[in-house]
Amino acid sequence: MPSVTLPNEVSVVTGVLPGHHGVTGIQWFEPNRLIYRDYATVSQKNMLDGDYTAATLYEQFPGRPTLSLFFQAHRGATRFDENATYAGASYFMGWFEYIDRMTLSMFRDVIDSARSTGRFPAATVCYLLSPDFYAYHFGVETEQYRESLRHTDRQIGRVLGDMQRAGVLDKLVLALVSDHGHTPTPWHLDLRAFLREKAGLDLADDVLWESTPLEARQAAYDKHSAVATVCGNRYAAIYLRKAIRPDGPVGAPTSRGEGASQPQARTEGNSPSLEPWAVRPSVEDLKSYPSRGGRLVDLPGLLAEQEAVDAVAYSAGPNRVRVRRSGGEVEFRQEGGPGAGISYAVLSGTDPMEWHGQLPPEIRAGAKAPPRRWLEATLETQFPNLPVGLLAYFRSGRAGDLAVFAAPKWDLFVENRSGHGGLRPADVFVPMLLAGPGVPHSTEGVALSVDLAPTLLKLMGRPLPSGMDGVPMLDVDDANHAKSVTRSQ
Ligand SMILES: [Zn+2]
Repeated sequence: MPSVTLPNEVSVVTGVLPGHHGVTGIQWFEPNRLIYRDYATVSQKNMLDGDYTAATLYEQFPGRPTLSLFFQAHRGATRFDENATYAGASYFMGWFEYIDRMTLSMFRDVIDSARSTGRFPAATVCYLLSPDFYAYHFGVETEQYRESLRHTDRQIGRVLGDMQRAGVLDKLVLALVSDHGHTPTPWHLDLRAFLREKAGLDLADDVLWESTPLEARQAAYDKHSAVATVCGNRYAAIYLRKAIRPDGPVGAPTSRGEGASQPQARTEGNSPSLEPWAVRPSVEDLKSYPSRGGRLVDLPGLLAEQEAVDAVAYSAGPNRVRVRRSGGEVEFRQEGGPGAGISYAVLSGTDPMEWHGQLPPEIRAGAKAPPRRWLEATLETQFPNLPVGLLAYFRSGRAGDLAVFAAPKWDLFVENRSGHGGLRPADVFVPMLLAGPGVPHSTEGVALSVDLAPTLLKLMGRPLPSGMDGVPMLDVDDANHAKSVTRSQ
């Protein structure tokens, strides 16, 4: 959550949920520091590793080589191959399969250097992008996409074949995982245009970060009321300045009878007066937000009633998240903080999440349930694991004041045939394959992407760093025990 690339890349190598490690999107805005991050730009892409502090897989093997092959989250790796020389041009030409073959060909260097130094890398993480881009460009229900999957499968097979011939394959733990799903998006809502035209927000277009002095960033962003980012095209974050409300809560009767019964924001010229960016809007602000011309807009309500919008989520205070849909609103609470029990209440409507009684009775009755119980309870629903990821998301200072998720078949931008970032099974479910010494031949019903890092560390006999959201999956054995099992076979 959100089901987009870089938040999940960081989660795969840290075992920490995106909201807790802080990389909440490919783009995010941080109202406190007035920084707009866009990792899709050449100037900012390598800032990723400075934006999270959670310990990485690479850092768990001191004194041993660790490699990242084109995998952007690589803090602590002794070597990072990003291959800008060939990837840049090929990317623009759309030669995604060529990029993946070049990335995989770097395994040759891995083996060569292992031969010359006598030390095999403790961990190598490799990123292949071709299926993602074929899905965007052609759609997931096309022969082109299928062919890109076959290509990926074939190329991974070539590398594994080489490893087998070199006699190292059965000594390695292999993991294959994706960062997100993909789902067809034949219909588009240009969310940024909608926010300007229909919601009357004054969106900033500036992309300013640490390279611009703070005062200049302030001058630029203070001219606007909102910042909006769209990632994977099915997830958007909207950041809003709090409105100054001289008359107290809007709509509340005034004891002094100053004629404030007609709710209206104070305006200067055409735009309402707003607090500095560091002051965050309240639930009331979101529900009666001053738009152009002094009109007050219920932003979650307006967005939720759009056909393109599946759900709008926002924080209702620490450890409290609300989800607004066209059929009503629910609230999740995790008062004990990360890892604690989560309770749920319907605030309006009868069954806004369309859970149709799929939730266990005690959860429906409002009892607290542990996060893994929620994972199981929501697994077969249209919103798998929704509360756990959302509660984590809104703990980040880079979470939108509103998080908007696209309805099935829709995205929130204008150009692609497929997308991801939403809350649905097609967005959030990914395959995860594991093989190697200590891995039993079995299938797990469900695991989280954040479970992969602790599982790998356990398999390799390393201690788990504190603060992980993930837990080791399967009945895996640590490295020493695995060796004795292997010997006895
Ligand atoms: Zn991706």
